[in-house]
Order: sequence, then C-alpha cells, then structure tokens
Amino acid sequence: MHLVCLDLEGVLAPEIWIAFAERTGIAAFARTTRDEPDYDRLMRYRLGLLREHGLKLADIQQVIAGMGPLDGAKEFLDALRTRYQVVILSDTFYEFADPLMRQLGRPTLMCHRLEVDAEGFVAAYRLRQPDQKRRAVEAFRSLNFRVIAAGDSYNDTSMLGAADAGFLIHPPQNVIDEFPQFPVQANLAELMTSIDAAALRLGEI
Ligand SMILES: [Mg+2]
Repeated sequence: MHLVCLDLEGVLAPEIWIAFAERTGIAAFARTTRDEPDYDRLMRYRLGLLREHGLKLADIQQVIAGMGPLDGAKEFLDALRTRYQVVILSDTFYEFADPLMRQLGRPTLMCHRLEVDAEGFVAAYRLRQPDQKRRAVEAFRSLNFRVIAAGDSYNDTSMLGAADAGFLIHPPQNVIDEFPQFPVQANLAELMTSIDAAALRLGEI
C-alpha cells in the first residue's frame, strides 16, 4: 500500500502567517523560518506580537476562516485519495488548521498544538515531537507502507529524504539549489503525474 505524505502550507493552502499579516495589516507577522531559522525564537516572537496587539486565538481563527485552499487543491486531494492513503504532515497547529481542513474535506492531519490561557490568548505551543514530519514517514515505512512525500520548503526536506520518493513543489530557489536530489514539480497536476509514476516504480511491498 502506498501512502502519500503532503505538506499543507504552500502546497494545499496559503501560508497562514503571511495571510494573517496581510489581513491584519501587521507586517511583522510575515516573518518566517526563512528570516528566523530558529523556530522556537520565531514562535515566541509571534506569540509576543499577538499579545502586544491584543489578538486572541479567536481573532486568528476568524482570519483563517476567511482563507481558502489554493486553487485546485481540494480536487487534487480528492483525486489522490481515490488511489492512495493520504496524510497531511504540517508544522501548523490544530487550532489554526480547522477552517482550512474543513474546506479540504477533512483529510488526516498530523500537526502541533497551542495552549490558550483563561483570557483566550495563545500562551504557548507544543510540538508533537521535534522533526515530526521525518519521524512520521519513518514510522509509516516501518509499518510497511511505501511512502511518497511532497512539500515546498526547508521544513519538508528531512521528510522527503526519509520517504521512498520525495518531491518539491514550486519551492523557493534557495531550496532548489540546496536540495537538488528532489525533483521539482511546477504545480499539482505535475505532482500527481510524478506521484503515479513513483508508485508504479516503487511497486507494492
Ligand atoms: Mg510548506
């Protein structure tokens, strides 16, 4: 049985923090792991900003509720799920992802959690485990799945490396340059063709 692991943001949905920055007009929220590679520092910075601007979890969820999946993402996922088991491996949080997952037909999602205080502010974040994308792929392979993975950025590369086949989809140039071993896909239609070819090549266990 083949299992396809997909990143969420940048593949099926817009970047949540960038959309949040645009919709609130607070540009500082657009800071990403490309600007601050230390994820813990970045998240503490974001949580500080939220508090500074008096933004609670409900405010963030309201913004996210107005976002939709990327064009064609729902159709891509529906078609993919007729042929393969599909799991979304994301570094977002369940509390953020829900409105998007509803619009994507609620595929299986593995991501992180937020802690909210009595006033409704985001107090802390809890990672499922460090490098969870890679470790999930390793666990699926140990269960005798052939794993095909796709993502768009740095935080996907260890997952792609652990998979039986890994693809980058419209990644930034620096990721292309640094990880030439992963074939680059221009769009979801190309990715679908490549996943099918990989599944055929890998065969069943
Ligand atoms: Mg991404």
